[in-house]
Amino acid sequence: MEKQLQFAPLAYLVFDRGLKVLEMNEAMRNMLSNKSPKHFHEMLTIASMVYFQTYFLPAITLHGKVNEMFLTIKGAAGSVPVLMNAVEREGRFECAMIEMTIRGEYERELLQAKQNAEQINRETAAAYEELQHLLGEVKCKKAELERLNADLHQLANVDSLTGLKNRRYLEQELAGLLVKSEFGFPLSLLAVDIDFFKRVNDTYGHQMGDAVLQELAGKLLNETEDEGTVARMGGEEFIILMPGYSIEWAEQLGEKLCRNLEMADWQHVPVTVSIGVTNYQPGDTATKLFARVDKALYASKNAGRNCVTVG
Ligand code: GH3
Ligand code: MG
Ligand code: MG
Repeated sequence: MEKQLQFAPLAYLVFDRGLKVLEMNEAMRNMLSNKSPKHFHEMLTIASMVYFQTYFLPAITLHGKVNEMFLTIKGAAGSVPVLMNAVEREGRFECAMIEMTIRGEYERELLQAKQNAEQINRETAAAYEELQHLLGEVKCKKAELERLNADLHQLANVDSLTGLKNRRYLEQELAGLLVKSEFGFPLSLLAVDIDFFKRVNDTYGHQMGDAVLQELAGKLLNETEDEGTVARMGGEEFIILMPGYSIEWAEQLGEKLCRNLEMADWQHVPVTVSIGVTNYQPGDTATKLFARVDKALYASKNAGRNCVTVG
């Protein structure tokens, strides 16, 4: 063998038709566990041997050469994957082999990376599904919370017996309106109190009294329409807030209420109301405003009830 081939950086090997090894170079010898094999089979793993037997001889007999045959050699440190090219010359098979260890590792790493990526994909998909599920739950909880908040708002601001706005709502609303009134925005209000309501309870019972309160609430809403906000202050006293309306207008509404309620058809027990009317005056607070409208209401009571007093 030529010296150059002897030390070339690729494995070189020659065997005959009987697969008897004739010669090999340094690179080939270094690759092997058995440094001086007699037969080519001794160099191959069992799986490679079967593959070699099946394809090598038919192919080289037919074409005179074999290109890039993938084999696994029994190496000093375990299996060594190689690519082998072979040509037939004068009944000898001359073979060159290139180690595929690095490429094999690289492919293993690639395969591992691919498997990792697939695993990450699966985990991502599962996490996404879980996230969707959680988002759905959050959406449900949010809707429930909004519903509960609306219920709470309703409970906090609405009188449960009559369905009218309650005192809490009225006081909040008034606080905002008073600020506007300081800048000249008109504000009037009416205090409406049922006359001799105690007698209704005493005569027909408390339940009937409740029914009358409910009926009156409906009538006050109808009569007031959108001129103001009707609220139940407590007991049998109601307040009508009329932002943007003059005291004259409020007085007219009061007169209309007294008249129409007196003439109304009552489902249960007919009642009349006494009314006090006032409006915002500079320097007013909610307390002053309520005190003045109460005073006007009691003036109506003292004047014989079922009438309106402006204070
Ligand atoms: P006045 O004409 O002077 O206003 O006499 P009145 O009887 O209407 O007033 P008074 O303050 O003496 O009595 C009010 C009554 O209202 C007493 C109370 O039992 C009744 N009342 C207060 N809240 C309710 C309620 O929610 N339901 C019922 N049925 N009665 C109530
Ligand atoms: Mg009363
Ligand atoms: Mg009262």
